Amino acid sequence: MPRWPRAAAGTAAYPGGVIENIPACPRCSSEYTYEMNNLVVCPECGHEWVPAADGASAAGGAEAGERVIKDAVGNVLNDGDTVTVVKALKVKGNPSGIKAGTKVRNIRLVDGVDGHDIDCRIDGFGAMQLKSSVVKKA
Ligand SMILES: [Zn+2]
Repeated sequence: MPRWPRAAAGTAAYPGGVIENIPACPRCSSEYTYEMNNLVVCPECGHEWVPAADGASAAGGAEAGERVIKDAVGNVLNDGDTVTVVKALKVKGNPSGIKAGTKVRNIRLVDGVDGHDIDCRIDGFGAMQLKSSVVKKA
């Protein structure tokens, strides 16, 4: 009796490695095509193409509509960042307003009204929206 079982024959990869339905080469109709970096590659004639099924997601990679929000000095901001307010801000109903240097934790990037693209909560002021141009990444 062996000390450890051999690799179970049934779990091995399919012989030849043909796992998925990879389309034949449209140029030379070779069936020995394989996938590489979201492309299908034909080893026979060297043709490479994007498979039709998920061509849309493979092309480009950048998701349309995803905005990059930058702070006053050009740092890219992300959800959850801590930022510092770089200039005094007036707040309706509050005589002192937000002072420059106020730390704001755990910001959330939003598509706010009138360019206010940061949703946050500031001690003493509560929830509010700021413009990314008045903060600096801490
Ligand atoms: Zn080919």
